[in-house]
Amino acid sequence: MIRVTEANGYESMADILSMAGVSNRWRGGWKLELGHVEKILNFSPGQLRAISYTKSSAQSAKGLLLGQDISRMHLAGARPRVCPDCVKELGYISANWDLRFMLACPRHRRSAVFRCLECGKPLSLYRPKLLECSCGADLRNLPAEPVEEHVLELQAVLAAKALKQECPFESACGLPMADLVAMSLRTLLSTVAGLGAQKLENLGMGVNVLELMVGHAADALSQWPEGFRALLRETGAAANQRNQNTTLSFRKAFGGLYDGLVKRGPPSKEVEFLRKTFVEFGLDEWTDGYVDHRLLRGISTDGRRFQSISHLAKDLGVMPSTARRWAREGLVPMTEIDHATRRYVGVAGPVSVPRRANGKSFGDREASAFLGIPVSVLKALRVSGHFEVRHIGKTLKSFHEADLRSFNDRCLAVVTAA
Ligand SMILES: [Zn+2]
Ligand SMILES: [Zn+2]
Repeated sequence: MIRVTEANGYESMADILSMAGVSNRWRGGWKLELGHVEKILNFSPGQLRAISYTKSSAQSAKGLLLGQDISRMHLAGARPRVCPDCVKELGYISANWDLRFMLACPRHRRSAVFRCLECGKPLSLYRPKLLECSCGADLRNLPAEPVEEHVLELQAVLAAKALKQECPFESACGLPMADLVAMSLRTLLSTVAGLGAQKLENLGMGVNVLELMVGHAADALSQWPEGFRALLRETGAAANQRNQNTTLSFRKAFGGLYDGLVKRGPPSKEVEFLRKTFVEFGLDEWTDGYVDHRLLRGISTDGRRFQSISHLAKDLGVMPSTARRWAREGLVPMTEIDHATRRYVGVAGPVSVPRRANGKSFGDREASAFLGIPVSVLKALRVSGHFEVRHIGKTLKSFHEADLRSFNDRCLAVVTAA
């Protein structure tokens, strides 16, 4: 519409809209009576349909971008932005600039123009030319601000998705490109929104300005999964502060983010990498509650730091009640984390859970005779962790010969060194 304005020398598209008989209440919203516009442009009916923001029925509440179904709130609408360098090259404003998450041009590595510096007003759809403000200022002359690399990379994925072009596959900033590329535009937008909104909440900002979310989402996606884990750490700390004195389960502490990112809406296949990283963070770092086994769904707890008794029992091949007793007696390296109900404990430390191993088992007296120390001392050493249990023999309480030998070797090494 701005191009038609420019080509015909009108002041703004308001002239064209009135000529077409389109309601003058259209202010860059998403519903435009296309039929009227096509008529005055001498286009055949439906010719503009491919670039329309709505499905053919004007009643449809869904938004569209080049035929891709997206949420209406993700359309820039009456908050236009533009990369003057792109317009100079292309002669038009490409559809990716219709996304509210587009703030910078990955091609020209510059910030987009949102506002005219001459008159100070936000850019308007009702301007005379693509690169001319309503005040007459030339938008080409505005200084561009540099943009951080990881933000540019996220912008490049968004733009490519919007334009249905091939996405960049390499990331210098560690973005999970393959996973982002496999997403639909709709899922990608909701992921960016979910990550960005969480950061704003952590910062105590209740605002819902989509433009503010992009940089934060790029932070969370960079150096995958480290950026995301940093966001989760911060979110967990904020949840703890809000709920002082109560122990939160993993699901409760991160419920909002988890639901927003992976549960409500997006096809589960597209966001499985987010879910996996989410749950693995819980297993590695969340010490205030357990990760419910229902969240695991195919995610291995092997080698992860914190897990529930039921996971441990499964790994050891024993009943949960047995595993719980072992934990209580200090025979496996678990600590209580749910103080209120004493129901769950986690593995404290990056240990590999001992497994039943082949080999000889020794009773208390045989074992202490082997090492030449009293039974009580040996038992105390095992509880304190100085005697490492890495193999489980016939019974859990027995001492495995491999553990006895390695303990003996360690003692001898200390003596020799001394
Ligand atoms: Zn550009
Ligand atoms: Zn101006």
